[in-house]
Amino acid sequence: MPRKSHTIADRMRLLDASGIRKVFDLAAKLKDPINLSIGQPDFDVPEKIKDEAIDAIRRGKNKYTQTQGSADLLEAVRQMCTKQFGWTDQRALLISSGVSGALLLAMLVLVNDGDEVVFTDPYFVMYSHLVNLAGGVPVPVDTYPNFRPDANKIADAITDKTRMLIVNSPGNPTGCVYSEQELRDIAEVAARRDLLVVSDEIYEQFCYDEPFVSMASVYDNTLLMRGFSKSYGMTGWRLGWCTGPEAIIEKMTMLQQYSFVCAASMAQAAGVVALETDVSGHVAAYKKKRDMVYEALGEPFGLIKPQGAFYAFVSAPGGDAGSFVTKAIDNNVLIIPGNVFSQKDTHFRVSYATSDEKLQEGLEILVKLAK
Ligand code: PLP
Repeated sequence: MPRKSHTIADRMRLLDASGIRKVFDLAAKLKDPINLSIGQPDFDVPEKIKDEAIDAIRRGKNKYTQTQGSADLLEAVRQMCTKQFGWTDQRALLISSGVSGALLLAMLVLVNDGDEVVFTDPYFVMYSHLVNLAGGVPVPVDTYPNFRPDANKIADAITDKTRMLIVNSPGNPTGCVYSEQELRDIAEVAARRDLLVVSDEIYEQFCYDEPFVSMASVYDNTLLMRGFSKSYGMTGWRLGWCTGPEAIIEKMTMLQQYSFVCAASMAQAAGVVALETDVSGHVAAYKKKRDMVYEALGEPFGLIKPQGAFYAFVSAPGGDAGSFVTKAIDNNVLIIPGNVFSQKDTHFRVSYATSDEKLQEGLEILVKLAK
């Protein structure tokens, strides 16, 4: 019998990590697996970003910053937004503890009990869990088999209880990048119901075929979130930013004051240097990896070419991801079953954020297993 004093709050009942735990339990038995399950870049933080963080610590940047972020990083993000979006107004900005931090704050600030949050399925795992945690109801909209967002289907999922839409392009786990027209179609649906769109653009730099288009450039009522984790290999540094309607950013900042307090001070100092750092070499290397994945899995698995991020969401033979993932792990290749990201379990996610050699080895095994 669990002790009464260890009783867990009811809200935790809706969080479930069983899918991913099963994979990690199976993987724990492997000695040196070919790991195609990782959600972070395989390159290290560029040297000058590291140097700035170390130097910031030495300069004494070790105290709390302002809750909304250090003046230097806020200014650097502002300048980047002016360059990218042409914004010249003083928009409300918040430096967060990663995009995860911004997502948690946004859900807690915006979602009431029973409010519905609409996003496309497959989706980044955190969305459904955070919506649940906030007392809301996740409403996934099926985008199989090509993962394109269908604005009519999204419109059909909207009810009087819908509080917001979440858009994630380039997407995890599909690697799908939304075209400007697709974003405009979603924006039109949102505008019709005066809905906020949360746009998670953490993979914005990893866009291989067409120039990236931001939801924020086609729809004003957007809560835009970006991070440093993926672009600069800084996943452990916990740094991101968010901009959008002033009233919302203000409440998110207030909640940050009583939770995260501020993003890590030395990471913020280094973030200024990160924004000046060119990562196009890494992006080119990842494009090559994307091509390797498509070349190997395109025909045997009927994979549609992913256009961004560093994932492919691949149809499992016989539509049974559970069995295929178990088989892959038995053969030393770590991949993640689709039901971790979806209501369905017909696909698996391949992350190609690993060395070309390991990737090639892993792809060959997957192809062999599909035969
Ligand atoms: N959003 C998406 C779509 C992600 O895939 C991830 C990380 O995997 C995050 C947000 C979290 O990013 P951060 O490290 O900035 O919290």
